[in-house]
Formats: sequence, C-alpha cells, structure tokens
Amino acid sequence: DLLPPPARVFVAGHRGLVGSAVRRRLEARGYQVLTRTRDQLDLRDEAATAAFLADRRPDAVVLAAAKVGGIMANSTYPVQFIEENLRIQLSVISGAHRAGVRRLLMLGSSCIYPRLADQPITEDALLTGPLEPTNEAYAIAKIAGIVQIQSYRRQYGASYVSAMPTNLYGPGDNFDPVGSHVLPALIRRFHEAVRDGAPQVVLWGSGTPRREFLHVDDLASACEVLLRRYDGDEPVNVGCGADLTIRELAETVARVTGFTGTLAWDTGKPDGTPRKLLDVSRLTALGWRPSVPLEDGIAATYAWWRERSA
Ligand code: GDP
Repeated sequence: DLLPPPARVFVAGHRGLVGSAVRRRLEARGYQVLTRTRDQLDLRDEAATAAFLADRRPDAVVLAAAKVGGIMANSTYPVQFIEENLRIQLSVISGAHRAGVRRLLMLGSSCIYPRLADQPITEDALLTGPLEPTNEAYAIAKIAGIVQIQSYRRQYGASYVSAMPTNLYGPGDNFDPVGSHVLPALIRRFHEAVRDGAPQVVLWGSGTPRREFLHVDDLASACEVLLRRYDGDEPVNVGCGADLTIRELAETVARVTGFTGTLAWDTGKPDGTPRKLLDVSRLTALGWRPSVPLEDGIAATYAWWRERSA
C-alpha cells in the first residue's frame, strides 16, 4: 500500500466536480484531507503555492484544479485554457517536489489523445497523431503536465502519476447552458423544456459523435486505487468501457426528465472528435471496477441539480 490512511492529502480544486468527489472518497476512507479555496490560495501563483506546500508538507497531492469546460468554452477561450492549466500545473507539481511531497496524482482528460486514435484508446496512443482542434489548447496543457510528471520521475525518482478520465458527470458539475459539457447542458435544457411545455429541444452538432461517460464517484474510487497501488511512468485511463451516441444520450436524458417532445440538431455547432472510448485494462488490472449505471447516475445528478436550482 503506497498511501495507507490516515495520510495527509492536499486536494487541489476541492470545490470542483472532480475535487469534491475525491475529497468525499478520501475522507470516507480515513484520510486527512487538506483544502484551500481560491481566495485563500491562488494555485497559479508559484511562490504562494510553494510556500503553502512547504509549510503544510502533505504526504500526497491530488491535482484536480483545472480550467475546464465544454466544446464551446474550449474553442472560444483557448488562451485561458492553455495558460491557466500550465500555470496551475507548474506551481503545484514543482512546489510539491520542492516540499518533499511523496505522492502526486494529476487529473487530465481523454482529449489528450489523437483525434483519430484507434478505439478503444490505449495509453500508448499519446503523441502519435494530430489532436482534435476544438480542445487542442487544453489538451496541450495536459500533455505538458504528463511530461512534467514523467520528468520528475526520470530525473528525481518521484512517485508522481497521472490519470486520464473520460467525460465525467455527477453532483458538483457546471450547469451553465453555454460553457458546460454536454450532459449537464442536456439535463438543464430538457428540464426547462418540460417546465415550459416546449414541444422541441435543440441540441448541438449532428448527434452522431460517440462519447463515454463516467460518474465522478467512480473516478474518485479510481483515484484512491491509483494513489495506493500505481507507481508507473505512463498515464492511466479511467472510463467505464462503453460509449453511446449524443443522440442516444439525449434520449436517455429525455426519459429521465420526462420530456416527450421532439429533438432538433443545430449543425452550425461543432461535433468535436467523432469518438473517444478509452481502453481501461491498465486500471481494471489493479482491481478497480465502475459501479454507477449511466441512467441511474443521470437521474441522481438531475435530482441533485433540481434541489439546488429550485
Ligand atoms: P467534448 O466531449 O470535448 O466534445 O465536449 P462536450 O461535452 O462539450 O460535447 C460533447 C458532444 O455533445 C459534442 O459533439 C457536442 O456537439 C454535443 N452537444 C450537443 N448538445 C450540446 C450542448 O448543449 N452542450 C454541449 N457542451 N455539447 C453538446
């Protein structure tokens, strides 16, 4: 066991979708979780982040702080996506090493892989072809983070690793109608259509791209497995092993929200990559399994959001 409880873990980004789930999981397992809000510590500030880590000296860091968003946010604000992520990674990873932090887990994304990678995508597809243009800036920042971590391992023997989750969803997600990822955007749009008695819902793109979705609680259990059992150079994919089309996803969200009208597709909006299904055999070999079926997870997320937006 590379990180038995009650180790002290700094979860960077504990208010986000991923960080909040990781914090819940680690606390439930007996870890001591350290957090800092954005007002208390700006992770883009290298000196402040280094000082915080040197002062608190956690046993491990989970880097779940990132500038993230859906396809429109990524293609409209590439400057923020590349610069904020590079800055956060630079200060947290180098600060952790200088403070003697023993273990670090960085969260990335399946968009780091080439747009037309063979499916399901194995970790060794990294850097074998051109990226999807709609999220290239974000992907390049995350690839830089992977190489930064690998460099600390090669040069200093650091026990730092990275995980590449598929499209995530769950409580704590961003439901902004323009900036969010597809699943919260659909939950909101179908809910509002039912509320207003609208006969039709308009969705982006063609509906034919395929995506894989994982509940964030399943990612959190994967993070625990990786912190305790994985010490390798390559990133580790985290996904459920199955995907569906955006149209099938929309039909599922329609069922969950009770929408019985028709769907229309705005093909002026981008589709993004045609498919990105992850090969998760490296992670399942460590004994991890996902546990939340998609429709149940969507229903729970819908209930969570309704309670907060009512
Ligand atoms: P991606 O997985 O990086 O492409 O990011 P998204 O989660 O934003 O989008 C996934 C797919 O859903 C793309 O093909 C979008 O065109 C499609 N999509 C359909 N309707 C929506 C919507 O309302 N919001 C978003 N973000 N995507 C949508």
